[in-house]
Amino acid sequence: MSRPTRSVRTQVVGGFAVLIAAFTAVAGWSLQRQQRAVQELRLANEGYLQLTAKLGDVRVNAGLLTALLDRLVDERDREASQAWITSTRRSRRGRLAAARQVVRRSLARAEGVEDRRLLEQTDRTLLAIDRTFADDEPRFDALLATLARGDAAAAATMKDDLVHLEEGSEERLSRTIRALQGRVQVLSDGSERERRQTLRLTLFATAVAVLLGVLTTIRARRVLDPLARLRDRAQAVARGDLGTVSVPAAEDEIGELAQEFERMVGAVGARDAALHDANEKRLRAERLAAVGRMAAHVTHEVRNPLSSMALNAEMLGDELDAMGEPGSEARRLVHSIQREIDRLANLTEEYLRVARLPSPRLQREDLAGLVADTLVFVAQEMAVAGVAVVREEQAGVPAVRADESQLRQALLNLFRNAREAMESSSCATPRLVVRVEAREFEGRRGAAVCVSDAGPGLTPEATEHLFELFFTTKARGSGLGLTLTREIATAHGGALWAQRAAAVDGGGACFVLWLPTADGEGAIDA
Ligand code: ADP
Repeated sequence: MSRPTRSVRTQVVGGFAVLIAAFTAVAGWSLQRQQRAVQELRLANEGYLQLTAKLGDVRVNAGLLTALLDRLVDERDREASQAWITSTRRSRRGRLAAARQVVRRSLARAEGVEDRRLLEQTDRTLLAIDRTFADDEPRFDALLATLARGDAAAAATMKDDLVHLEEGSEERLSRTIRALQGRVQVLSDGSERERRQTLRLTLFATAVAVLLGVLTTIRARRVLDPLARLRDRAQAVARGDLGTVSVPAAEDEIGELAQEFERMVGAVGARDAALHDANEKRLRAERLAAVGRMAAHVTHEVRNPLSSMALNAEMLGDELDAMGEPGSEARRLVHSIQREIDRLANLTEEYLRVARLPSPRLQREDLAGLVADTLVFVAQEMAVAGVAVVREEQAGVPAVRADESQLRQALLNLFRNAREAMESSSCATPRLVVRVEAREFEGRRGAAVCVSDAGPGLTPEATEHLFELFFTTKARGSGLGLTLTREIATAHGGALWAQRAAAVDGGGACFVLWLPTADGEGAIDA
């Protein structure tokens, strides 16, 4: 069997895989953006802001030192100013070193080229300022020594040089702080821009993912819908509905399952019908066996007394004739006794025929010829009943394999039933049409005899029970004729069924007796 075009697993798993992939992509992308934003924020907070604060300290310190220097030469309380200058000088390089540590930490963390360049530049500037501070140390010492000597003019010149140098460092620090603050501003603007962009893209990606989810759910429902139909069908089958139902072409495993299920139901139905047939046959056989036992009993108990009664009645009739009373009441009664005895004898014969139907001895027979012979045999009774007999033969009817005497018996039953049906209904134009034709049955070649009459046709009750043993609607019927005829047909591998006769054939009942032709058996020349 060819694989279905799209498997349920592929469709459902594929749909969910796309969904998971979409969600993973959205989540991964947004995580990465968040990570970057967090890193930039940390750099701004722990790096640039700390650095500007520390450098701001150093700059304030430098400004203070310049102010103290400016006033140092003219100061009356020179001791206190010198103490301030010394303590400020000592602490400023330590503050600068702390600021450079922050720069190095930030460098280790910075990923962007801009940040790295700015931090490296800052480090270089701080290093240069530190060197200036270091270089200034001997100048401070010399200034203080000059002041201690009381050389105010030389001290003023030295002070001016130092103030100039200190102002230069202060200016460089201010530039560096501005550059760092500018970078913080850039980072904060970028992070705001990033936040808005991330929000827009996240909303868009979420909408796409939701759309995919909805489509996958709709698809999954469409794929799984036939399961409900399959369940209903299974319930119907469980209730006994074994009829065939057409299913659409399989698109996936569920479609395949539905088709396989229908095939299985078909097989179960066929098996069911076969079982039913077998059961029917068994029941028929059991009934026939019962009739057989009864017939043997009847034969034993009734048949022998009947023949001596028939003999005695005949002798009694002869006696009355000899006494010259052929038309007397006694003679009429003897006739009536003889008729009843005949009928009873016929009945026992019929029972025996049904009960002891031997296996047919099959040989090649010309069905049309056999039908013609049998019709000659019943011609007299048909004429008496006023029945017009029409015989039709199709050319090229194949020979059948049949037991001649059993077939005659079957035909006689059908002809007599037709006559009796027309007699009982007081048919205006009694007519028996017997047609012999080539006919196929259940894919097998064969020939059929169709016996149609102009009687009342079959009642629904008769149609239902026609072939049942003992079913009869006639006052003096036995209900054995059609049972025997069907047994004969079945034993020949053939079939017998009833239908409505065509209007041209009388419009009454039509019995079709079909017999198979032997394989390779050719058509009989007309
Ligand atoms: P019997 O003739 O003893 O009744 P059969 O088995 O031959 O038994 O027939 C059974 C019943 O089938 C008949 O009683 C009759 O009701 C019905 N039947 C048979 N042949 C015909 C026919 N040609 N037209 C109408 N009914 C028929």
